[in-house]
Amino acid sequence: LAVFLLGQSVLLRSRNPVIRIRRAIRRREMRAVYQPIFSMPDGKLVGVELLARWPDAPENLQTAEKFIGEAETSGLIQDLTVMMVEVAASEISDWLIADPARTLAINISASELTGDALPDRLLHCFVEYGILPGQIVLELTERSIATPRRKQLDHLAAAGFQIYIDDLGEGYSSLSYLHHLPISGVKISRSFTSGLGTDSPKVDLVLAMIEVARKRNLAVVLEGIETRDQHIAMMGLGPLHCQGFHYARPMSADDLVQLSTSDNAPPRAGPRK
Ligand code: C2E
Ligand code: MG
Ligand code: MG
Repeated sequence: LAVFLLGQSVLLRSRNPVIRIRRAIRRREMRAVYQPIFSMPDGKLVGVELLARWPDAPENLQTAEKFIGEAETSGLIQDLTVMMVEVAASEISDWLIADPARTLAINISASELTGDALPDRLLHCFVEYGILPGQIVLELTERSIATPRRKQLDHLAAAGFQIYIDDLGEGYSSLSYLHHLPISGVKISRSFTSGLGTDSPKVDLVLAMIEVARKRNLAVVLEGIETRDQHIAMMGLGPLHCQGFHYARPMSADDLVQLSTSDNAPPRAGPRK
């Protein structure tokens, strides 16, 4: 019986998502992929977004949204972020140092802004690799900044990091907060950019968000550009940054370096015949 019970408990422990995630972080089982971001209309590769992948994830934790969500609720998200940042710094520091205009965007979850440890943990890692904090974009969702976390935001901005609002428009009813936060850019979510090139009312929202952002001199990234029609519609909106499967999927560090040395142009940026 004892052997049976021990066996059961080992089995249950190994199925526990929190234990699985903690172990995966410790063993560095998560991989980093990088999705290119291009400036338009010139099509120059200006930066990448770091995204986590877990190749050997248990069945119910396979997508980033699932295991990130679980890491957030179980208090493991900051360890995951630091692990991802260490991997990214070691993989693409040469790529970043080669051109100081290049940026690396990192997703930061709301719960990471509760303590004061984040700026130092991030700085420590980047300084070690010779990466300037100004090349790092911290992507925060509206949910993170809707609650009073002003002090943490100020600390991150004072450390030299750029702060962008991720998935703009998804979580908050008013854009007025854009006027008094230390942010330097916004990313407009795929749920709005999907309307580009159609007569969907979402297009008006995209235009309104771009206008508000430009008035504040904020950089604007359109996320989730998937089709040629969306790309063509976007080209009529003035200078912007774009990210999406139409230009490039998230890729390994090796593929990123190869893309940058080929002709530094997105493979499918221009209208195809
Ligand atoms: P996000 O920060 O908004 O990242 C963009 C997501 O959209 C990524 O999904 C990316 O693969 C996907 N995507 C990019 N272009 C397109 C497109 O043209 N079409 C479609 N359908 N999707 C596109 P992914 O990697 O599954 O990540 C989902 C979310 O999980 C991210 O949304 C982010 O909030 C979170 N996440 C991913 N990695 C990390 C991480 O290391 N740390 C934290 N805190 N969150 C992460
Ligand atoms: Mg993001
Ligand atoms: Mg996003």
